[in-house]
Amino acid sequence: MATIDKPKVKVNGTDYGWPRKPVVVVCIDGGDPAYFDHGVKHGYIPNVERFMKNGFSAVADGTVPSVTCTNNMSIITGAPASVHGISGNFYLDPATGEAVVMTGPELLRGETIFAQFARAGARIAAVTAKDKLRRQLGKGLDISRGNICFSSEHADKVNKAEHGIDNALDFVGMPLPDMYSMELSLFVLEAGIRILKRDRPDILYLSLTDYIQHKYAPGEADAIEFYRKIDDCFGRLAELGAIVALTADHGMNDKSNAEGKPNVVWLQDILDAEFGKNDTKVICPITDHFIAHHGALGGFVRVYCRGGKATPDAIMRLIEPIPGITEIYDRHTVCEKFDLPLDREGDVAVISAKNVCVGGAEKEHDLSGLEGHRLRTHGGVTEARVPFVISEPISAAYREKVKSKPLNSYQIFDFAINGTR
Ligand SMILES: [Zn+2]
Repeated sequence: MATIDKPKVKVNGTDYGWPRKPVVVVCIDGGDPAYFDHGVKHGYIPNVERFMKNGFSAVADGTVPSVTCTNNMSIITGAPASVHGISGNFYLDPATGEAVVMTGPELLRGETIFAQFARAGARIAAVTAKDKLRRQLGKGLDISRGNICFSSEHADKVNKAEHGIDNALDFVGMPLPDMYSMELSLFVLEAGIRILKRDRPDILYLSLTDYIQHKYAPGEADAIEFYRKIDDCFGRLAELGAIVALTADHGMNDKSNAEGKPNVVWLQDILDAEFGKNDTKVICPITDHFIAHHGALGGFVRVYCRGGKATPDAIMRLIEPIPGITEIYDRHTVCEKFDLPLDREGDVAVISAKNVCVGGAEKEHDLSGLEGHRLRTHGGVTEARVPFVISEPISAAYREKVKSKPLNSYQIFDFAINGTR
């Protein structure tokens, strides 16, 4: 059927035209713009460099808190967290008072671009490094109609009925990658290349892991090797005739001091000393089961008033003078400022400076996984700026859009599908 006959697909208020060729969006987990800057400067990411030159390149605003689940959901719904509801990797369930992961599909509100396009007859494939994202990526996606959704983390456990693919290890031609390795990401990209070659899906989403960026700064040998390899994959995706769009869920900053020790504000300890134990609860939205490389420390936490002693005002007064804390907001203000869902917000939001992170109680964070590496992490405002690169030029109308309003990373599908027409 000619693309012209296909109806527009509406998702969370945005109309998407039919992709005229496969659209591949890659979310480079932890892909701070500094890695691209270094790679372009030193010439080891020639494909990205070509996309930037011949296509479109900008640095966009990601969603704050700048964590993985929140931003992946923003990207695949084309909407802010106030719409999709996933305001962290981890949150305090208001119904039970328990701190739980935010990865359940039932927590994801609205529709995904994948589910809506699949309903309209498009072929979709989504491959993620971290299995925690898989169920939300696949929400509403009818696998029985030839669509694919699986993770490299659990690539040895896939089946046709549930994931749309059998024998993923043989198909990709790689062994099951370690959870903490660059291969976990490379597997995703190699899978994407093979799926693109075999199926030519209309939409392909490839979401990587930030293991390398947590461990290595731009310019370190392992980071260079990783970027060289992913750049090669981006080139092969483009060669197969796809529009390739690159963004990230968040950036990454070094948050250690001159001695190499993490710069941490242990907020729960400070609150407990002032208001007593169990009166407040600090939740770190960066928390997930991949914590070895950051010990669940990030640049954004939520404080809940649980006893009766601490009030939001008293907490804000107490925190304000702490060095390294740059922004403190009450619930309504933080939701307004960062477009977050009010019913999933804490009483006070606390954001740290670029070189500082904020945690709960010191004894509850395990930093042994750093193994002598400097702590590099994310979550705050200073890690919310991300690359926004498209392999093909965008239309005059979309260039105007960029001039008139700040660009959000969740517009990447809109730009890659509608903007390149
Ligand atoms: Zn991430």
